[in-house]
Amino acid sequence: MRLSRRHPRYRSLVVRARLARSLESGLIVPEGLIAQGRGEAFDYLLGERTSPSARRAERVAAEWLLAARRPVVSVNGNVAALAAKEVARVARALPRIRVEVNLFHRTPARARAVARTLSRVGVREVLGVRPTATIPGLPSDRALVDRRGIFVADVCLVPLEDGDRTEALRARGQTVISVDLNPLSRTSRAADLPIVDEVARALGHIADDLERLGQPGERGRRRPFDREAALSAALDTIYRELKRAAARPRSARRRR
Ligand code: ATP
Ligand code: MG
Repeated sequence: MRLSRRHPRYRSLVVRARLARSLESGLIVPEGLIAQGRGEAFDYLLGERTSPSARRAERVAAEWLLAARRPVVSVNGNVAALAAKEVARVARALPRIRVEVNLFHRTPARARAVARTLSRVGVREVLGVRPTATIPGLPSDRALVDRRGIFVADVCLVPLEDGDRTEALRARGQTVISVDLNPLSRTSRAADLPIVDEVARALGHIADDLERLGQPGERGRRRPFDREAALSAALDTIYRELKRAAARPRSARRRR
């Protein structure tokens, strides 16, 4: 099907078409489409743009990653389908960061598909295709990680992660930066630094900041981040958007 650029939901339709192709190619699973649906709904409520609070969180995330000794970015099928280029930009801007495949519904073929997608856009080394360690406290294959990556990371950037795994990483004393459009998800609530933004936008902004900030300067020193305030700000944004929509007369309520 050809998508018209004039369609008011053009961008969202493009993303949906891309995910549908990713389902066919085996990069993502049907559950991934449902997760995207939940994400889209929250993005809609947030005004489909990066809020000032999310942008601040992204800047602090870049600083934390720069200050980390062993930073890791975890990539699942949806992240590879939606933001592989942005992951590659993050990896180029911070060569120390390890990129690791991390799948909720793991099969060797899918792990390879994620790695292939990343290497096509220039990521040199992808960990986690053949896991070598397990995170305690998680059921079997969801615990699988790479001994050189997430297992030993001090700071984990986990876009679209599951709440259980976020909590398991936190329980091991690892610092978690999440990217999740749902400010109410367990992931957002458990993360040390929850970024409530769409994954390609968030990773793109983090890459911008890493490129701008350059070399690791103050390693070890970490600017504090008020996670509760960030989550409240996201809920406030939703509240304001809803109030604005409710106040508008019916005729003006058409989609942008
Ligand atoms: P949790 O396990 O953290 O409680 P959940 O069970 O509600 O969350 P999951 O399926 O585990 O949801 O994780 C998917 C999460 O990713 C959802 O919270 C959804 O809002 C978010 N999400 C989906 N698509 C995107 C996207 N494109 N950008 C950012 N976040 C997204
Ligand atoms: Mg979940």
